[in-house]
Amino acid sequence: MSSQSAVRLQIDGLGRAFQGRPVVRDVTLSVAAGQVLCLLGPSGCGKSTTLRIVAGVDWPDTGTVRVDGRVVTGEGRRVPPEERSVGLMFQDFALFPHLSVADNVGFGLRGPRAQRQARVRELLERVHLDSHAAAFPHELSGGEQQRVALVRAIAPRPRVMLMDEPFSGLDNRLRDGIRDETLAVLKEEGTAVLLVTHEPEEALRMADEIALMRGGRIVQRGAPYNVYNNPADREAAAFFSDIN
Ligand code: ADP
Ligand code: MG
Repeated sequence: MSSQSAVRLQIDGLGRAFQGRPVVRDVTLSVAAGQVLCLLGPSGCGKSTTLRIVAGVDWPDTGTVRVDGRVVTGEGRRVPPEERSVGLMFQDFALFPHLSVADNVGFGLRGPRAQRQARVRELLERVHLDSHAAAFPHELSGGEQQRVALVRAIAPRPRVMLMDEPFSGLDNRLRDGIRDETLAVLKEEGTAVLLVTHEPEEALRMADEIALMRGGRIVQRGAPYNVYNNPADREAAAFFSDIN
């Protein structure tokens, strides 16, 4: 098996209930290196809860999460978020306001100073923000802040990137460009990506594979054109019907 097809993230039989109400039901998914899997479904279907469990900030009632084959959640194990090699990007991406752009990107890096600086420079150049290295977050536009948040998350070379509706706070005019740039950077880095969205159009644009979620369950999984052209049932078809 080539490293590009190696499974980085494996989720098996995940279940989570709140006050006795199940919100994640028997969710099984895997994401390979260099692959973008979109978890797509309507608001409230359990997407963020699933992602939070994978991130290690919430704990399931059943099931396991493996990163590179290592159990990080389940079988009695609770590896803390910062020790599971996952990068996080949320809509409210919250750069550190008191740190420069360069210090934000370098925040999670370890090792010799020269090496850390080189990594920061490489990433800022990659998203065309090297001239803003000394700026502070409030001096940047929303789109620029988003690109800083992206490279901050990938700077430590996480095995898996978790993204929860990361583009929904952005202006329509900016969104497509930032989606494409984000995708290009993640592909270059070979990161396995689990991207949560409630927008079919975003999943169709970004995913290698779509997992359609409803009522806490995965109801369909496949290549974007397959899920779009052959929805599993009437409800899945209706979910896709309002895009043109
Ligand atoms: P999505 O991200 O798909 O919109 P969520 O995973 O955020 O859905 O939420 C799924 C369901 O679980 C929702 O009904 C939500 O209200 C409920 N929920 C999420 N977190 C909690 C919590 N900490 N306590 C109680 N209910 C919660
Ligand atoms: Mg959510």
